[in-house]
Amino acid sequence: MTQTYAEFYRRSIDDRDAFWTEQAELIDWHKPFEKVLAYANPPFANWFVGGQTNLCHNAIDRHLGSRADQNALVYISTETDTERTYSYSELHREVTRCAAILRGLGVGKGDRVLIYMPMIPEAIFAMLACARLGAIHCVVFGGFAAASLALRIDDARPKVIMTADAGMRAGKVIRYKPLLDEALQLTGSPAQNVVIVDRGLDEGMLRTEGRDLDYATLARQHDSEDVPVTWLESSEPSYIVHTSGTTGKPKGVQRDTGGYAVALAASMRHIYCGSPGDTMFTTSDIGWIVGHSYIVYAPLICGMTTIVYEGVPIRPDPGIWWKIAQDHNVNVMFSSPTGIRVLKKQDPEYISKHDLSSFKHIFLAGEPLDKPTHNWLTDAIGKPVIDHYWQTETGWPILTSAPGVEQTPIKFGSPSFAAYGYDLKLLRESDASEAGVNEKGVVAVIPPLPPGCMTTVWGDDERFVKTYFSTFSTKLVYSTFDWGIRDEEGYYFILGRTDDVINVAGHRLGTREIEEAVQSHSNIAEVAVVGVEDQLKGQMPLAFAVAKNADLISTDESKAAQEKEVLATVDAQLGAIARPRSVHFVSMLPKTRSGKLLRRSIQALAEGRDPGDLSTLEDPAALDQIRLAIGR
Ligand code: AMP
Repeated sequence: MTQTYAEFYRRSIDDRDAFWTEQAELIDWHKPFEKVLAYANPPFANWFVGGQTNLCHNAIDRHLGSRADQNALVYISTETDTERTYSYSELHREVTRCAAILRGLGVGKGDRVLIYMPMIPEAIFAMLACARLGAIHCVVFGGFAAASLALRIDDARPKVIMTADAGMRAGKVIRYKPLLDEALQLTGSPAQNVVIVDRGLDEGMLRTEGRDLDYATLARQHDSEDVPVTWLESSEPSYIVHTSGTTGKPKGVQRDTGGYAVALAASMRHIYCGSPGDTMFTTSDIGWIVGHSYIVYAPLICGMTTIVYEGVPIRPDPGIWWKIAQDHNVNVMFSSPTGIRVLKKQDPEYISKHDLSSFKHIFLAGEPLDKPTHNWLTDAIGKPVIDHYWQTETGWPILTSAPGVEQTPIKFGSPSFAAYGYDLKLLRESDASEAGVNEKGVVAVIPPLPPGCMTTVWGDDERFVKTYFSTFSTKLVYSTFDWGIRDEEGYYFILGRTDDVINVAGHRLGTREIEEAVQSHSNIAEVAVVGVEDQLKGQMPLAFAVAKNADLISTDESKAAQEKEVLATVDAQLGAIARPRSVHFVSMLPKTRSGKLLRRSIQALAEGRDPGDLSTLEDPAALDQIRLAIGR
């Protein structure tokens, strides 16, 4: 009997234990769990209590019997013109060797290993090696600058750091090791062991005697060692990944082991429709959650081949993604709206000349998908394009269509329905009551969060509760910090964030973080950063700053020079991804009488909209300055 998605969803909520017990059969357990869910201390949820499992075992070892010679990982770099493939048995060997290296450096269960690496196979060996040992990895996106990296090192306190001499982007060498050295200076942490994959891209790389070790040398030393899997209780942590919020300090999202493995395996079946032997191409980076879940763990747990791509979408030409998809018979593709918008500007021939008949679907997430882009890609590919919505915190989709259960019609502009397992509500901001049809509300989840979602903030349970579960004083609910509406047919639409977080090309940035970086320039007294609409990247930060010494910005030339310096400061503090589109100098910022920045009004003006309620504005002249600065 065929089941509708609505029935499937209902069962996941109403008959939760039975539903997740079935899903849990999709992975291997070393010891069966005794209880599906322990929820005695809301909102902290422990899934599959007492069960023992391991992510690396599920991603590699369990496939060795049936698919040892199948490709597990295909690495393609258009930056270094390299292609390398690893079968499941080869991946097993590489990961075991990396685990032996880490073990040799004293890494064991519960220890942290920070991974600051470009998109190379060794980065994935490192993640899986940590999982094998029961160690906790903390991958930091390679685009983050020294100060951001230092914050994450301080928070994770890793025993070992793994890095590479350099990465490459659009033909340019990006040095990683000097940034790491700088970050380690900033942290003041005791000397860590740093293991470096030397790609030969930076001949001048400096090494610190005794601390810095060469991966290739260590790999030879540990070549034939066996490293058995360390079985973890389901709730024990697998990794930390940091994400931005409204404060300057990023939060370490902590993930468990068993719940995550089950959630990913289930999502591959019900949402992504990936089967063992299929190939998945996810165009993200391992530094982001999409990379963790859908470049590394989910495809491997499901016995698929995963494509790891180091390169940009338009080099050597804008057909490169589609060429990879054709050459490797990609069945499931996962990308971002910004990536597709970049390609939409190119000659359609770049798509049409490739045979993409192996595709089942294309999934896009990370930021709002505009209708024209959704429409364009659907026409160009001739296969369903599925917009789905999720967050670093959840690790897998919150809103999606689930074609593995039922092919529900796609509505452009909507990520469809609540994913199974999420008791999703749209709540009125005023009193946490449920919003009606077509009425805007906060997208919220009644806890417990389903398996796979964050279990706490690393080292800070209180921050977990305070940040995510305290939006409403009358109701314990998880807030996504997104506004949404639901239409009469039950389709959801995401309307943007409720907080001061912005989304640049699918990457989440806190405006507060950027403000702190701008303010670290010696001539900046005050600054407001807002996100403004951008045709390509969705949003871009824009800064309005008050200079300490106005003489330094008295002419157009000196202003331009100061702006350049400020932008360089942001690059150095956070990385180029956070660089504002421009910095406008003003002599005061619009604030309320109690001194709160009116970011929303600034943002509205910058986007040519009405600035809204200004009754609390202290000095109207401040808004005139913003208008003047942006020429409106
Ligand atoms: P991140 O944790 O960096 O992936 O950012 C998550 C945020 O990105 C969400 O809270 C949304 O604001 C936004 N987002 C992710 N996917 C979508 C989508 N499909 N549509 C609209 N916004 C999205």
